[in-house]
Amino acid sequence: MINLTITQALEKLKSREISATELTRTHLDRIEKYGADLNCYITVTPERAMADAAAADARYAANNALPLDGIPIGMKDLFATRGIRTTAASRMLENFIPEYESTVSQKFINSGTVLLGKTNLDEFAMGTFSKTSYFGAPINPWQREKRLTAGGSSGGATSAIASGLAMGGTGTDTGGSIRFPSAITGLVGMKPTYGLCSRWGCVAFASSLDTPGPIARTVDDAALLLSAMAGHDEKDSTSANAEFHAHTALSPILGDGKKLRVGIIREFADVEISDDMKNIFAKRIADLKSIGAEIVEISIPNILDALAAYYIIAPAEASSNLARYDGMKYGLRIDGSDLIDTYKKTRAAGFGDEVKRRMIIGTAVLSSESYDVYFMQAARVRRMIADSFNRAFEQCDLILCPSSAGTALPLDSDLSPLEYYALDLFTVAMNLAGIPACSVPAGLASNNLPLGIQVVGPMFSDMRVLQLAKHIEQFAGIDNRPTTVMGE
Ligand code: GLN
Repeated sequence: MINLTITQALEKLKSREISATELTRTHLDRIEKYGADLNCYITVTPERAMADAAAADARYAANNALPLDGIPIGMKDLFATRGIRTTAASRMLENFIPEYESTVSQKFINSGTVLLGKTNLDEFAMGTFSKTSYFGAPINPWQREKRLTAGGSSGGATSAIASGLAMGGTGTDTGGSIRFPSAITGLVGMKPTYGLCSRWGCVAFASSLDTPGPIARTVDDAALLLSAMAGHDEKDSTSANAEFHAHTALSPILGDGKKLRVGIIREFADVEISDDMKNIFAKRIADLKSIGAEIVEISIPNILDALAAYYIIAPAEASSNLARYDGMKYGLRIDGSDLIDTYKKTRAAGFGDEVKRRMIIGTAVLSSESYDVYFMQAARVRRMIADSFNRAFEQCDLILCPSSAGTALPLDSDLSPLEYYALDLFTVAMNLAGIPACSVPAGLASNNLPLGIQVVGPMFSDMRVLQLAKHIEQFAGIDNRPTTVMGE
């Protein structure tokens, strides 16, 4: 049962070949067996899961099943869940139990999913290996004995889904946090168009970049999850007036004489990537050509400045967003001698080093002496990148690029903060532009670890992005079934 995709499980649930209760029990048993070692969940919710499953089974019995009825999922622990601790992987929110439900998690409830628990992440989603989590890093289930990173910040989700400890789940992508962890764990991770999924009730990192999205084992599954998550929300002022519906398998966008112009970014050609990534990228391009894709070289002149712009804008917004954690309203409080001292003691104890680093950078770039030279310049670069993508989409329909330079690194790799930041090179530009991008498994490297390629499209082309991703998935044909990944 663990190897079923969401699409397959829904068939079997509908035909009553399996029940939601069995499916959920099987996943909870597996969490019991592997959860502690993989460290992919911060909080497991077995009672809630079994209750959700029973409700789903009752709806199947009454023939009024919901679109994702009985599918066990993990929710990134950044989405507020009513009555269930929501930590953002921070000591600051270690014991925070929200009285409200985020729009995205509410939409999953409305679709009938079963909540297995809250998945691990980098503290406040700031990081790339999920190592900044107050609860310790999750492990990549691929070649588990090697203790590789499952990526970040949605690394708990990718660890859980790749190992069969959830059938799918949510992530958030501010600068690559869905796509990078998905790429190095052999999963499909979709950063939708900014505004397609509501941010309401999702702990804020950088509001103009934060994008909730789905993570799953197949493109069809990711499309099903996105259908549940997406849609306008009046509680989020940046929510788009758009929907996404894929309730059946995605149709091919290529083949049978269909034409599609696929762009390759010229500036990325000079970036150092592994030979495996080069080879696999070339192979998938050749495959797409063979079914009618026309490959065109396009230019995004400022794309290599995206990192610099991102690491000004994201910390600036974070420093403002995280000002709310002052020990007064919610979360940790360490009493000091007076109000200011309480603020200081609370924030010193509640935040980890990376979060503090971001707030210091953010406060600096927003200060009156630095605003024009740093923040305004970064905002200009952001505008230029968005404009360049718009121009590029006059020459091509969709764009392809690597999701990362290479495969998963060991968790104990000793990287400096700047070296971590540099890993986001291939992902941050799409957040700055607000455009959809999906990382899809593209092949196995010579070390037998997965590599991913991104499909990128113009605003609201999410469906076409996923359709092209599905072709790549089919050509790559990697075996990412949990029992294979876990060597069972
Ligand atoms: N690695 C990036 C950062 O640390 C992206 C994080 C994210 O997308 N949440 O900011």
